[in-house]
Amino acid sequence: MIKDIKGLHHVTSMAADASTNNQFFTGTLGMRRVKKTVNFDAPDVYHLYYGDEVGTPGSVMTYFPFGHMANGRRGTGEVGVTEFAVPMGTLPFWRDHLDGKGVQGLTEGTLFGENRLSFAGPDGDAFALVEAEARGRTPWSTDTVAKDVGILGFHGARFALRDVDATAELLGFMGYQKADKEGDVTRFVIEGGNAADTIDLEHLPGAAPVADQGAGSVHHIAFAVEDRAAQLRVRQALMDTGYQVTPVIDRDYFWAIYFRTPGGVLFEIATNEPGFDRDEDTAHLGQALKLPTRYEPHRDKIEALLPPLAA
Ligand code: ZN
Repeated sequence: MIKDIKGLHHVTSMAADASTNNQFFTGTLGMRRVKKTVNFDAPDVYHLYYGDEVGTPGSVMTYFPFGHMANGRRGTGEVGVTEFAVPMGTLPFWRDHLDGKGVQGLTEGTLFGENRLSFAGPDGDAFALVEAEARGRTPWSTDTVAKDVGILGFHGARFALRDVDATAELLGFMGYQKADKEGDVTRFVIEGGNAADTIDLEHLPGAAPVADQGAGSVHHIAFAVEDRAAQLRVRQALMDTGYQVTPVIDRDYFWAIYFRTPGGVLFEIATNEPGFDRDEDTAHLGQALKLPTRYEPHRDKIEALLPPLAA
């Protein structure tokens, strides 16, 4: 069994309009934009990172805003809900705040004894805020989202799956333990990780597999390991079990490997090193456009193609 996974690292989704996406995560959700860079394979598309003050692994939501991309159509084999943790007792604030911002799909409920507020992102993204203990995490704060109510980081994620058994087995191999079951949802938790440590599997045997990912769809979900040595151990263990895993890829702010899971969700294993302060100081994270080295000679052309974003 793998012992190096520390919970979630980041979640990467697709969006339509970059400016709308930026405004939603910084203005509406009160997160900090910790990096403004571009897609490694399509430098005319931003890669935007939002998180806590420094983009602590387990807090980082990232987006590729592809411009006029159509909304994705939901199905099984993908992340169904991305969940953020907020301090205990703050959902009444969030309900008013999100309602005041015109956020759609606000629905309160409980799952596994936790109070949650579901809502839709600008492209129909399925999100939930879940009240949770801070466990040492500190939110970013803005004029409208104060520190005592701010998003602490991820709580976890819920996968929509036709068959849960193979994914449950994989999570067990990755160090997660089955913790609870409520209705069609089975909860897995990893011990000794960061606080972004739950994965819920929703069993939807009659639902169709996702056919069209698009704006609002999660592209992949990344799990954290401490360093490159741990990543190589995880890669070897996965390959020994029969998974096809990519070589290690340098993503500038972390090293990444990817593999497709039996349930269809694309997994990444990402290192906690070197982090988002690798190329700019903490006070100015996310402000300047940062380009992968190979695109730096084309900076003027790339900047001219990208839509301007509010700070
Ligand atoms: Zn990633």
